Amino acid sequence: MRYQPTRSSSATNVLHIDGVEYVPVTDLQRRCGLVAVWAKKDEHLLLKNDHWQVELAVDSRESEINGHRLLLGVPCRLTHRVFYISRVDAEKIIGPVLLPGNQQPSVPSLRVIAIDPGHGGVDNGTSNRKLGLLEKTLALDVAARLGKILRAEGYRVVFTRETDTKVELPIRAATANTAGADLFLSIHFNSLSPDSKTSGMELFTFAPTGIRATDNWGAKVSEVETDPSPGNRFDHWNAVLAYAIQHEVLTTLKIFDRGKKLAHWGVLRPLNCPGVLIEPGFLSNETEARKIATPTYRQQIAEAIASGVRSYAATLEALRKGRAAAANQ
Ligand SMILES: [Zn+2]
Repeated sequence: MRYQPTRSSSATNVLHIDGVEYVPVTDLQRRCGLVAVWAKKDEHLLLKNDHWQVELAVDSRESEINGHRLLLGVPCRLTHRVFYISRVDAEKIIGPVLLPGNQQPSVPSLRVIAIDPGHGGVDNGTSNRKLGLLEKTLALDVAARLGKILRAEGYRVVFTRETDTKVELPIRAATANTAGADLFLSIHFNSLSPDSKTSGMELFTFAPTGIRATDNWGAKVSEVETDPSPGNRFDHWNAVLAYAIQHEVLTTLKIFDRGKKLAHWGVLRPLNCPGVLIEPGFLSNETEARKIATPTYRQQIAEAIASGVRSYAATLEALRKGRAAAANQ
């Protein structure tokens, strides 16, 4: 059933609820050339064009882009038969994936890549005692494999650590910034022990200003950062980068999609470049942990993340060419 908003849903009709600015979804439709239909009337809305299908839900932060789970910053709303999405979600979370580079003054360069293996030294990260697995060791191994692949492709690669040492979060970001990194990839593994059922990948970008972290919607005191962090200058490209990696890793490894989420990770906050924190599996899930324990599978993880970087690089290159061509006309 076609979504037919009432006449009041003109682009100027913004809504403010609990300090959040909402725009009619027709804004996003117009900008990205999307048709809207109800998958389930007044509940699930589908936005579609030849390349994209976006699924949004009323009173929910759940969304999907081409089948990949993406957590919005705030729930969508249906008010007076008009479907609203927060301006931040439309412009900084979904919009960049559908229209990379839109309203961006420049296209980032991509020559130096910082790889950040999580934890180290006295900080083991998560673990699987039964299998004798430590997150810090596995993350370092995947990072080394990923670095080797990216170096072979001509990128300059810097590591925030190359040995089993503890490195403070701000130092990790500073290492990337000092090296003039154009991209930051933080590698971790997940755990929900004693839950042993949960598996799959989740990945995080730094939450846009004024937006709560995905895991901060329960009864906990909400953490909202109202002052922009350095990393917030890259909200747009963070979204583009994260989708590229999410798509490539999920397609290659065929693991469960836990979603692309938002967090206030200290390692991402001070960055002078786009960055993403990737958790490509659970050590608390026996089956997944056994896979992660093998060098073959860790190589596959590294290759999949490298494919994501390749896809992101291709998007930047296409944008650069398009802009150069437009400038020469
Ligand atoms: Zn970790």
